[in-house]
This record gives sequence, structure tokens and C-alpha cells, in this order.
Amino acid sequence: MTKKPNASSRPRLSGRAFLKGAGAGAMIAAIAGCAHGGGATLADQGEPAAKAKNVILFVGDGMGVSTVTGIRILAGQMQGQSGEDYVLSWEEFPNVALSKTYNTNQQVPDSAGTATAIMSGVKTKAGFIGVGPAPKRTECDVSLNHRLTSILEDAEMHGLSTGVVTTARLTHATPATTYAHVPERDWEADADMPAEAIAQGCKDIASQLIDFPGNGVEVAMGGGRANFLPASDADPEYRKKTGKRKDGRNLAEEWLRHDGAAYAWNKQQFNDIDPSTTDHLLGLFEPGHMQFSLDQPNDPGGEPTLAAMTEKAISILNRNPDGFFLLVEGGRIDHGHHEGQATHALHDGVAMAEAVAMADRLTDDDDTLIIVTADHSHTFTLAGYPTRGNPILGKVYGNDDFGEPETQPALLDDNLPYTSAGYQNGPGAVTSLPRPDLTNVDTEAEDYHQQSLIPRSSETHGGEDVAIYAKGPGAERANGVLEQNVIHDIMAKAFGFDSE
Ligand SMILES: [Zn+2]
Repeated sequence: MTKKPNASSRPRLSGRAFLKGAGAGAMIAAIAGCAHGGGATLADQGEPAAKAKNVILFVGDGMGVSTVTGIRILAGQMQGQSGEDYVLSWEEFPNVALSKTYNTNQQVPDSAGTATAIMSGVKTKAGFIGVGPAPKRTECDVSLNHRLTSILEDAEMHGLSTGVVTTARLTHATPATTYAHVPERDWEADADMPAEAIAQGCKDIASQLIDFPGNGVEVAMGGGRANFLPASDADPEYRKKTGKRKDGRNLAEEWLRHDGAAYAWNKQQFNDIDPSTTDHLLGLFEPGHMQFSLDQPNDPGGEPTLAAMTEKAISILNRNPDGFFLLVEGGRIDHGHHEGQATHALHDGVAMAEAVAMADRLTDDDDTLIIVTADHSHTFTLAGYPTRGNPILGKVYGNDDFGEPETQPALLDDNLPYTSAGYQNGPGAVTSLPRPDLTNVDTEAEDYHQQSLIPRSSETHGGEDVAIYAKGPGAERANGVLEQNVIHDIMAKAFGFDSE
């Protein structure tokens, strides 16, 4: 379920029918057009802002507003506080807006289409990486004529340094939209691609990172090592990190062609990287996704935290006097939710809050725009009437008739205890009555599946708006209810790029 959360959400017949007919092309054009700055005029309002030298974009994958509230309470409770009034790093940012996350062909979106909207300023279809909405999904030849320019590519063309940091695979949807262009998010390595697409000239996502034109992306760190290494590499250094590439390329080795290049696949190597002498850093810390933050201490090779990767990335990128663009993704908030395990989702959210705090400490509000947002929400909810300070992942203890906290868990109509954290759908679905009795269940355990209504092996995304938090030059444009693609325009305007 961590692999292809959108696999079952391909465009459906009803969606095509909706888009068919005379209005379809016009509608797509209207969406794409308004996408590029015309429609959502809120971002255009206000006084001309100071220019941003640096832009750091944080994407909490799947971090809807209810998830932010859960992260906030958990972070406070981890420090011995009640939690509800705790303030997360990005909650001190002065500018907040709402982001409408739908894809051009999906009411509830996937991460590829949403991340493309954020990076490139154009809403597109679910499953698309850096490609506009015209092609059908997996339609390679058409997609080649509908490539979009991402804010990272724009930054490279303007001579800035760029970086991508994630806890998911570096080739996963959100990070991929900064540097790659494919009409199918699953084409992470050549082994994932149909022969026809390769013959038509489409390249797998991992190779697009390494073959990035010019002097390339300066910093790329996350998981997904298998997509960069050959399937049969005999080098003992790589042996236990099995690759899956069929073309025989060792992309980690190829990375080292860059000036001042370094490659790290474990924590010790990461710690040994000197940012003052490293110009190009590739970190691939897992064959697949990196560990959930709670599991990182158990990883034999060790993994840097998201905050540590953020610090290293900024230290390298900061050396460019012209500035930098950096994407940092808390990629596994989404995966915790898909697994119906709120413990993982919220703890990975706390890890992202630490990364945001790190970025804020290392940069200056006068020249650095920091944006924190989510690509989409999840069906996660916080409900019931827990008393103040109730453990956010624990069973609900309510208040008595005098408003004082009860000493026994609250019982619902079925005389059974419940948790505040839950899902509309997912693996924890209650499929028969009576509901499972939680009296002796540790609902704060990593592997606990919060109860949900509808059974589904992978809990789904949610369709409601998500928040945008911003500070620094140009942050005032994060104001109002915005189409998601306007986030790109806010960043481009802050940089002073002419993106029209
Ligand atoms: Zn997802």
C-alpha cells in the first residue's frame, strides 16, 4: 500500500464522459489557462514584494488540516504539555491560505497531479509527472509535446542551486515533479516502463534526475536506491542494496561525474559529508522508501532525519550567492495514513515540523520564502469529546457532568471505548458488530489501525482543501482560497522569474 496509492484511481469512464463533447477541450484549456496565473487573481493582489533569494517549499504529503491538528497535539504532548495550544514551527508563519487540490480529471486527487500543479503552475491529470493534461495516461508520444517547466528547472536556468529532499523514494510522485516528465508516475526505473514508451523516447524518472541538463540538481536525498542501481551489479558496496535497472546503468556512480560530487547511502556516510566542500550530493538511504521516523533508530545502516537532511541540503545550497530552490517532502505522512496507522502519520509530521524549524533557523526572513503545504488531504479525523490533554492517539476520556475529566474511558452507544483519531475508510474498518473492544488494546502502538467505516486495504486521500503557510518575501500572496497551482506562481513571482 505504500507503493502505488493511486493504482486503483485511474481515470474512470464517468470522468471521461464528463470531459467528453464540445466543452471538454475548452474546459481543460480553461483549467490549464487559469492555472497559469490568470484565474486565481488573489495571488496577484497586494504591493510588489521584495524579491526572494531563496525559496524552500515543504510538502507534507497527505497533510490535511486535521492531520496538522493531530501533529500539533502530539508534538506538544511529546514535550509533556496538554498539546492543543502547542504551536508548530509553520504555525508561526504570518500568511495562511487554502489550496483547492483537485486534479483536472479527479475530484479527490493523487500526489502526481497535485505536485505537478504546485511545481509547474498547471493543474493536470492524476498520475502525471511534469506533463500537462492533454495526453491520456501512459501516452508517451503525446506527452513529449506537453512537458511543463518546474520551478526547480526554472531556478536552474536562472543559475540558482537546487535541491530535492524526501523521506519517500526520490523517484516518487512529489519529488519527481521537480525534475522529471512522464505521463505515468509508476515509471520510476526503466524496468517499470513498457517497451513502447521507451521506444517512443520516454525516459524513466530516476534517469531523468541523473541526466538533468546543465550542471544538474545540486542536492538529491531520500530513498529509492533500487531505481538507480543495475539489477545485477556485483560491486559488494552495492550488493545488499539490490538494484532493479535493466539497462545496466549505475546512476549513483554516474552522479559522481559532477564537480565536487558525493554519494551516501547510510547515516555514517551522510554524517561524513562536508557541506563546505561538496557541490553535488546524492543520498539514497533505502532501496525503497526511507523508514518511518519511529522506525529509523532500528535501521541497521542508519538514516538521517528529515531535519538533518534539510540542514545538510541548505548548507550546500546556501553557498550559491545567487540563491537556491529546495523542496523538502515529509513523504511518509501519506503512507502512515494509507496504512491506517495514524501513529506513523503523526510522528512523521512531527519530524517534518522539526525540519521546518531547522530551515527557519538556517535562513533569513528577509531573503528566503518558506512555504509549507500539503498536496492533498486524507480521510483522517479527530472526533468525539476527549477532555483537554487526552492522549491524541489514546482512548477517549471525556468530561463528567461538572466538566471535570472522567477516570474511565468514555463508552459509545455500544458500551465500548473509542479513539478520537479515526478514518472514513481503510484497513481498520469495522466490518462486523459488535465493534472490536479496545479496552485492552494499545491504540498508540505503531501498528494499530484506527477504526474506520468502509473497508479498504489502503486508506484513501481526502478531497477537502489543505492549508498553505508562508513567510518571507512574497509570502503575502498566500492569501485567500487559491487553486493549488498558484503556489507555483507565488514562488516564481518571489524569485522574480517571468513565468508567463
Ligand atoms: Zn497517497
